[in-house]
Amino acid sequence: MTDTAETVIANAAGLAEFIDASPSPYHACETVAQRLRVAGYTELAEADAWTSDVQRCFLRRAGSLIAWNATGTSGRGFRIVGAHTDSPNLRVKQHPDRVVAGWHQVALEPYGGAWLNSWLDRDLGVSGMIAVADAGAPGGVGYRLVRIDEPLLRVPQLAIHLAEDRSAVKLDPQRHVNAVWAGGSAPFVDHVAAAAGIDPADVLGFELMTHDLTPSRVWGGDGEFLSAPRLDNQASCYAGLAALLGTEPAGQLPVLVLFDHEEVGSTSDHGAGSDLLITTLERIVATEGGDRADFLRRLTGSMIASADMAHATHPNYPDRHEPGHPIAVNAGPVLKVQPNLRYATDGRTAAAFELACRQAGVPLQRYEHRADLPCGSTIGPMAAARTGIPTVDVGAPQLAMHSARELMGAHDVAAYAAALAAFLTPR
Ligand SMILES: [Zn+2]
Repeated sequence: MTDTAETVIANAAGLAEFIDASPSPYHACETVAQRLRVAGYTELAEADAWTSDVQRCFLRRAGSLIAWNATGTSGRGFRIVGAHTDSPNLRVKQHPDRVVAGWHQVALEPYGGAWLNSWLDRDLGVSGMIAVADAGAPGGVGYRLVRIDEPLLRVPQLAIHLAEDRSAVKLDPQRHVNAVWAGGSAPFVDHVAAAAGIDPADVLGFELMTHDLTPSRVWGGDGEFLSAPRLDNQASCYAGLAALLGTEPAGQLPVLVLFDHEEVGSTSDHGAGSDLLITTLERIVATEGGDRADFLRRLTGSMIASADMAHATHPNYPDRHEPGHPIAVNAGPVLKVQPNLRYATDGRTAAAFELACRQAGVPLQRYEHRADLPCGSTIGPMAAARTGIPTVDVGAPQLAMHSARELMGAHDVAAYAAALAAFLTPR
């Protein structure tokens, strides 16, 4: 199926390029938007009236995006792939400038469950969004994406000779992840604005964050691995996009929804706890001439695949994994099951994804977390509760989740995209 994708080739090199183009949730949405446009999709605004003449559509709310293809669908349910655009990182505080021991520093704050040790001693760039005074924009505020791919910042580690305990690195998120920078005559945010071509006097607000400048890399004797930042969860954004663009609707209406804020609980105006998905589905039905009862009927035939990364069994820590559920890289997508509903999968939706994998001709691995360890979650349970649509949690296997640099199997990219494509277009 991936050969037919007009703009997205579902392989590891394609994913590496996608990730390197997308250092922040805003950039992830922009990267997806560019590829959707190339494939003939039209961006809609929520404030506008929609008509049925455009059928391949997408819209954005801040760092979230939803896309759908209404061509050739027949009033049956929706098939939805959901993922998240945000990843743990270090973000710039509102008053970041300080001088300590003669060093110019930029105060950073961890976002989400960042593995802080992995951010030390890396050359860091800065990206995100700056809100500026713009008389022509709604409310007088315009939004500019900014991105500096120069080594602006670095969080230096303590010398081992100065550590209290050489066997364990203990990092305090308030004191130990501030960056050093070269400083200068201007405050840090003014420097970033000026570098992005924005008059610092026009800056009204910002969301700025750091990214490791090391490019993503396919490696291994046979190119079987991919090391990259933000695999959780841009690998799922990418596989979902490849799935949407690589298939034609087969009765049910395929939707791709990419939410910001999953790593911090999804409770915002555009996270998975928001009305973004459900109101968009209702408007799609209304645009096709349906009423609210038609919309509610369409929901009953719908299903969501919450696509987020899964834990491969770690060779240095095999005891941290449920022994009866080993997960290998380059061995197919993963069904994630957690009976206490940290994952949304149930028997009905597990069956639907098993069928999708059979349709795609890829093997399916089944993951359960150790019962004696706390389990992370996904957008799955939240999206299911918000919409009333049965949901399955799935993913591709990786190591080092929430590190600044993660690892996955290169061959899993195509298999993951193929499974999601089959889920979007069940036979
Ligand atoms: Zn995730």
